[in-house]
This record gives sequence, structure tokens and C-alpha cells, in this order.
Amino acid sequence: MVAISSPHFVVFPFMAQGHTIPLLYLARILRQHDVPVTVFTTPANSPSVRATLHDAGISIIELPFPADIDGIPQGVENTDKLPSMSLIFQFANATKLMQPQFEKALQDIKPVGCIISDAFLGWTQDTAAKLGIPRIGFYGMSSFATTLYFILGQERPHALTTSPDEPFSIPNFPKLSLTRNDFDPPFNELNPKGPWVDFMMEQNIAMAKSYSVIINSFYELEPSYTEYWNRCIGPKAWCLGPFAAAKPQVLLANESAKPNWMLWLDKKLQNGDSVLYVAFGTQAEVSQEQLLEIADGLEKSKANFLWVIRSKRLEISEGYEEKVKDRGMIVKEWVDQMEILRHKSIKGFLSHCGWNSVTEAICNGVPILAMPFMAEQHLNARLVSEEVGVGLRIMPSNGSVRGFVKAEEVEKRVKELMEGTKGEGVRKKMKEVGEAACGAIREGGSSWETLEHVIADVSNYHK
Ligand code: UDP
Repeated sequence: MVAISSPHFVVFPFMAQGHTIPLLYLARILRQHDVPVTVFTTPANSPSVRATLHDAGISIIELPFPADIDGIPQGVENTDKLPSMSLIFQFANATKLMQPQFEKALQDIKPVGCIISDAFLGWTQDTAAKLGIPRIGFYGMSSFATTLYFILGQERPHALTTSPDEPFSIPNFPKLSLTRNDFDPPFNELNPKGPWVDFMMEQNIAMAKSYSVIINSFYELEPSYTEYWNRCIGPKAWCLGPFAAAKPQVLLANESAKPNWMLWLDKKLQNGDSVLYVAFGTQAEVSQEQLLEIADGLEKSKANFLWVIRSKRLEISEGYEEKVKDRGMIVKEWVDQMEILRHKSIKGFLSHCGWNSVTEAICNGVPILAMPFMAEQHLNARLVSEEVGVGLRIMPSNGSVRGFVKAEEVEKRVKELMEGTKGEGVRKKMKEVGEAACGAIREGGSSWETLEHVIADVSNYHK
């Protein structure tokens, strides 16, 4: 355990749920290591940050979010509230205006040992350099995806392919033949251009100057990719996760305090029924047509399912909920996903494979049915189903890894996961991997020991 003189860590998450949640869990883990922590947020994000950290002994500082910027409505301080995701660059650029106040706040709470900040807040590297504090960056992806995206940009191993589904390999890279379709546009294009490319380039330059990189993964899950990053790319990557393991279980005093979905899951459990959890995160844009096809597939599978549909834009067909009411529940509000995955009735997770969702499934030993849509989700789906073997994959009908998925495919794979021998295989493997994940985060585990090392390193930096 670290001595009382441990350096003060500042944690600055980017304002999107999938970016903020893991860093808040990491803040909790830092406290378990007796490290003083301050988390930076903005007024509109503050209530949820405070709720997540209320019992953790962590200081929280609110910086005003810049107002009247480039079409971002007043009060929108989280990408999940943006009227369109095309405003993300304006949003990320707006955060740069927080720099003077951030620097002032850091002066007020000094000495600060280190700044852990999201990759999308590359400007925090300038602050860190100016104040002589090491910055540790956070991409929020697996080692596998972090490494692969970097290689794609730098070495362009896909440059000679003539179609998006043509396999290519990367010299000296562990296994797997990849296709351009495993990556998201525009990064998989032969000549990638545009605001995303410029934005990521800027953030990667800042990351290259950073002291190190933190990965929300554990060494045993993807050792060859972490080693590749450390050997060939850098700055040094430290696997400190899975962070979700630090989320305390919600203990509700009585039944009336439980949300409806929890009561529904409790009932299923009492009846000896198992349930498939279906959710596609906070960013993936599922088309209306695809949603209806998934609904059809779930109905035909005869599985019990709890489905979280967060997009207000999407409508399930009339009469559907009535038709599946004995075995299907649809929720249209924010749920506590970790609590769902912890529930003993949950036997499978039909997921878009956002990295947080994957790590949360791993922490709870719940096998995954991978249905990726965007960002690095396709790579995560390959890691889950082909590399680690803790999930099955739903494939589009066009023979490619991208495309429309038919109801029959959903039905078949759901049955396979919930009742089939392949499902049994990945469930067994997921149990082992889940136990390894919990072991990594416990005292003496790989993530625990690595964090002790990080803290000692930061202390030595200031000597
Ligand atoms: N989440 C949640 N409740 C919801 C929707 C999402 O708790 O109703 C959480 C989920 O547990 C995960 C995060 O939001 O921690 C989503 O991150 P992920 O990387 O899985 O997907 P993204 O939203 O970034 O695509």
C-alpha cells in the first residue's frame, strides 16, 4: 500500500458517458490505493459525477462549460445531449476554452502529482507541460484496438487492398488477418481526410508527448497487444483495469426502491428463467429498420429478454410489447447496466461491444453476443469472439462484417448463446476470464501491482 505522502492525482474525463464512467471508476480505484484524488467536471455533469463518487472521499471541482460556442446549445455539456453527433468536433474544441480556468484551479490545489485525462482533451498536455506535471492519457479502448488504430494511421498496412473485405496482415503483429471493414470510416479509407482525422491527429500528437497511457484492460486479457504497443509505439501503456470492478454494488433497502426492470429480473430468477440483456450503448445509431429486425429475431428466439432502447427516435412496432409481454421487457430510460449484468438471472448480453460494455460483461462473467455498429466496436467484437472466445458474433446477411442483420440471424445466434453448445463453450470461457479480471484488480493482481508502480513512478518524477 502506498504511503501517506502519495501524490495527488487529478482526473479529467471527457464529457460523454462512455468516456466519463470508466475514469470515475478509476478514481475510486486510486482511492483504494490511498491516493488523494480530485475529479474535474462541469456544472451539468456534476450531479451524476457526485452521485457516482458520493461515498469515495474524492474532491470534485466544477469548471464552467464554455457557452454560446459554434452551434452547441446552452446547457449541453455532454455529447449524449448533442442534437447531432456531427457537432462533436465543435464540442471537443469548446473544451479547449476551459484551459485557463483548469490551470488556475490546478494552481489552487497544488501540489498536483499527475493529471489523468481523456485522449479527447489533448490540450491538457499543454497545461501539464506548462506546470511541470506528468499527464497520463486515456483512450478508453482495449490495447488491441488502441494499437491497431495507431498502426492503421502510421503504417497503412491496408493501402494495397482493393476491396474493404480483402484481408491484410500487419508484419510482426500477433495473429488475426484484418480487413478495412473491421475499422470505422474515415480511418479505414486509403486516403483518410476530414474533421475526424484532423481531430484524432491533434489528440494523438498530444498523446505522444504524454508521460504514459492508461488502458482499461488487464494484462492477462490481451498481453501480446499491450506488449506490441510498448515495444513498437508508446508512450508506455499501463493496463489498470477492468475499472468497472470498482463499482460498488447497489444495495436497495426494500422492494419499493427497486426499479421495474430489477423487479422483473427478480421474478424471472424466482421462476428459474434466464434472461438475455440487450443494449447498444449511448452512441451507436441503430436504424429504425434494423431495430424492427432485431425485435423480430428476439421474438422468434423465444428467449426472455430485457432490452434497453435509449434513442427517442426509435419506435418499436405497435402491439410488440403486448405480444412479448410474458418474456420480454423494454426499458426506455437510463438503467444501471452494471447492476443488470450482476443480476443472477442474466445469462447473455446482446451488445454493440462498446469497450465499457465488454469490460462490464467480463467483470460479471456474462458471455457476449456481439453486434457491433461503429467506432472500434467491430474490433472489440473480433477480440471477444475470435481472440478471447468469450462471445459469439452476429453476422450481416451480405457476407461482410458490416451490413444489415436479418431477424433469422438474430434468432439463430440468440438460441445458440442461450441454449446451444457453442453458448456453453463461451460461457465457460467467460467465467474463467471474469475470475481472472477480478483477480487482476485485487491486491497482488496484475492491475493492482501496475497501479502501485504508476504511483511510485509519479512520486519519483517529482523528486
Ligand atoms: N450505460 C448505463 N446505462 C444505460 C446506458 C449505458 O449504465 O442505460 C453505461 C454502460 O454501463 C457503459 C456506458 O454507459 O458503462 C456505455 O459505454 P460503452 O463503451 O459500452 O458504449 P458507448 O456508449 O461508449 O458506445
